[in-house]
Amino acid sequence: MAHLKPVRGTHDLLPEDMRQHRAVIDTARKIVRLYGFEEIATPIFESTEVFHRTLGDTSDVVTKEMYSFEDRNGDFLTLRPENTAGVARCFISEGLAQKVPLKYFYAGPMFRRERPQKGRLRQFHQIGIELLGVASPAADVDVIAAGHRALRSLGIIDKTVLELNSLGDRESRNAYRDALIDYFTPHKNSLSDDGRARLQRNPLRILDSKDKADRELAAEAPVLSDYLNEGSRNFFRNVQDGLMRIGIDFKINTRLVRGLDYYGQTTFEFVTDALGAQGTVLAGGRYDGLIELMGGAPTPGVGWAAGVERLAMLIDKYKEDCPVFAIIPMGQKAADRAHMLAEELRDDGLVVDLAYAGNVSRRMKRANRIGASAALILGDEELARNVVQIRDMKTGNQSETSLDAVIVGLNQFR
Ligand code: ATP
Ligand code: MG
Repeated sequence: MAHLKPVRGTHDLLPEDMRQHRAVIDTARKIVRLYGFEEIATPIFESTEVFHRTLGDTSDVVTKEMYSFEDRNGDFLTLRPENTAGVARCFISEGLAQKVPLKYFYAGPMFRRERPQKGRLRQFHQIGIELLGVASPAADVDVIAAGHRALRSLGIIDKTVLELNSLGDRESRNAYRDALIDYFTPHKNSLSDDGRARLQRNPLRILDSKDKADRELAAEAPVLSDYLNEGSRNFFRNVQDGLMRIGIDFKINTRLVRGLDYYGQTTFEFVTDALGAQGTVLAGGRYDGLIELMGGAPTPGVGWAAGVERLAMLIDKYKEDCPVFAIIPMGQKAADRAHMLAEELRDDGLVVDLAYAGNVSRRMKRANRIGASAALILGDEELARNVVQIRDMKTGNQSETSLDAVIVGLNQFR
């Protein structure tokens, strides 16, 4: 049955995948907590409007990537393609304006109808942070530092480069926009269809195009840094100085415009060349106009999101650090006693796998397969003497311990 496969671009996460996944999420959560971020969760679907108005009518996400549907009662809903708009919506509907500054962390699935490739899925997962209510460049620095430290803690900071740019304030972007229109218009016919549509509606987006012809033209286009007004230049200078002060290296990339329309001033990406074409692992920027655009009180914001799948591919194989013990009873009486023993050990916080059936060699194989540190072998003969055999699965050494002191015998494996 063909439809019994996962939908194109979606994935089952089996335990070995989930371990990598959890390692990424748990590490990030712990690290951003050091910066004061606390976890929240917003719904996986929102009114379509939440994304339409905020991500911008010209962004790839809105024009072709959203999973939208009409509910039975005629409401238009969308599976969230990202979480910043959801957090902004939450900020407004929960009336959080009086509580700024707010620092939120989130983790969860996102949905975009993209062409699936390695590191590019239709259901993928993101972790991210949002710092709401702080206009100062110190917030940008702290947010970038949190991302930097998370990547460091995951052991992959050396595989990435931090690219940094400023999109300036609205005035600067408008001046730049005019310059881009002047530059691209004579080359209109060389642009892709997408590029031409972007020229009309949002020429900045041409710089983010993945089309070859667009990119070649964009390479010669005017650069935004020449159009930043004084305020924007100062802001950007302060972000750079702040990063240098705390020892975070970066590279200025004047072409970095990001995929979503709500960004202004600072934008940044941690990129790697270890994942082929899908090189961006953690990306974000400042979005001062977003909450106002959605109808909330003007509230500045800055944040980032990172792809969990891409990070999970980069980190070392995560090893579970708590030992697993397998109990292997032989004979019915031993099997009954084994249940009690398993519960006693679990009372002590040990991970215990009980072999329910099969001969000893099959049960031993299973103990190996689940990575047990030791097997506890309990036959009727052992039971009669109130002892159990503890077999070290690594060395094969076996020793006998009183059933009343199993915990002590297992201490060497902890
Ligand atoms: P890209 O240029 O790779 O399409 P983007 O600009 O669309 O990225 P963002 O919307 O900023 O990405 O999302 C932040 C991060 O989420 C990305 O850097 C990436 O790690 C991850 N991500 C985005 N889209 C996908 C996807 N379809 N599958 C897997 N991870 C993704
Ligand atoms: Mg994208």
